[in-house]
Amino acid sequence: MFDLNGKTAIITGSGTGLGEAMALGLAQAGADIVGVYNSTSPKVGEEIVGIGRRFLGVQADLSRMEALQAVVDKAVETLGRIDILVNNAGIIRRADALDFSETDWDDVMDVNLKSVFFLSQAVARRFVAQGEGGKIVNIASMLSFQGGIRAPSYTASKSGVLGLTRLLANEWAAKGINVNAIAPGYMATANTLALRQDPERNRQILERIPAGAWGDPKELQGAVVFLASDAAKYVHGHTLAVDGGWLAR
Ligand code: NAD
Repeated sequence: MFDLNGKTAIITGSGTGLGEAMALGLAQAGADIVGVYNSTSPKVGEEIVGIGRRFLGVQADLSRMEALQAVVDKAVETLGRIDILVNNAGIIRRADALDFSETDWDDVMDVNLKSVFFLSQAVARRFVAQGEGGKIVNIASMLSFQGGIRAPSYTASKSGVLGLTRLLANEWAAKGINVNAIAPGYMATANTLALRQDPERNRQILERIPAGAWGDPKELQGAVVFLASDAAKYVHGHTLAVDGGWLAR
């Protein structure tokens, strides 16, 4: 049920942090990987090839509309088909709401929400053409459920990801396309470096996590493999928290 042999997965932001760990997890379950990155080619590509899967790195700035269809075209041209899309790339800008700039609003919304919709649309059109359905897994956040502070565009974008996950599931479930999301808790990656380096915020966050530790990116591998596999056939529109119990508090 969890076997991904013969499947091809596109994963955005696959060069670092959660994306890198999830790309490896999907490859270990059997999938060939298209790793989308915007700076240096993902190191994880060598590891994926090392375990016997195919890896295609595609450089793209996902904030640009024209890049999105190009990602799909390159994936199909090289690997022949697409079965799974993981919309993982994301950015955050932190400032007080009273000072927050239009640039910090637009930059975050473009990558975290607009590209998630339009890349999902491009991939779903391909799923429909292939006629065998497919899986889309969006990366949400604790700020899909909570307000947070000092990250207004991030909270708006990740709350939007939760809603969009439901809308796309409603429209595409009957086409055999499963759209779900994972909401990671507080994970140790570049995205949270500033929080972990602030002793006061670090202590406050750790005190509130029932599991008592920041999450390791590898702890998302089980969830992403599940949602990308036949095991999740009847799971639609769900946002699964992998958060050390944070939301249970
Ligand atoms: P990260 O900064 O290591 O990863 C983000 C990735 O997105 C990077 O590889 C980056 O190159 C890519 N990216 C950013 N802008 C892009 C663009 N315009 N075009 C192409 N790629 C682009 O941080 P991470 O923690 O691994 O974050 C991955 C996802 O998980 C993000 O969506 C983030 O919001 C989300 N998330 C992280 C945490 C956490 O605690 N670390 C918690 C909840 C959600």
